[in-house]
Amino acid sequence: MKREVTKPVVVSCPQCHHDNVFNQPYRYHAGFADQGFLYNEAGNRTLIWSSFDPDYEAVVGNSHPWVLGPDGKKKLEASLRPDPNGGGRWLFSNPARCLKCGAPIAEPIGMNIYYLEYDGSINLDPIGNKGHGLKEMMMVEPSPAPYSSPAAGSESGEA
Ligand SMILES: [Zn+2]
Repeated sequence: MKREVTKPVVVSCPQCHHDNVFNQPYRYHAGFADQGFLYNEAGNRTLIWSSFDPDYEAVVGNSHPWVLGPDGKKKLEASLRPDPNGGGRWLFSNPARCLKCGAPIAEPIGMNIYYLEYDGSINLDPIGNKGHGLKEMMMVEPSPAPYSSPAAGSESGEA
């Protein structure tokens, strides 16, 4: 794909009229991209993953994130570690919030298929982020890699 100069997405806060600027060319469509997204409780960061992520499917089955029922939502929420930057838990009820006053500026997944990607968001969709997956944000640590570099030995120990 050619890299093009694009305008950012600007979402004006309905409450304080602050212009929230997102470094993305348009609001991303989770359905077209086969992605799930959740905002943290602070509403200032986005967690993004692939609908086909095997670790995601292991929790909720073969179901797209935007059509999950209450049980699936609860299960997934319970499986996720909170935002490592202190923004709280990744919940289906969390809206995107104004960076200045905290008022909601976009509805959560399930109510809005388009999402905003805040600076410092966590994108674990391996498409575009090779080698990443939702397991990185899950409670249970993934099994150690089945391979090891013969030269590395146990030098660095457990990460
Ligand atoms: Zn605001």
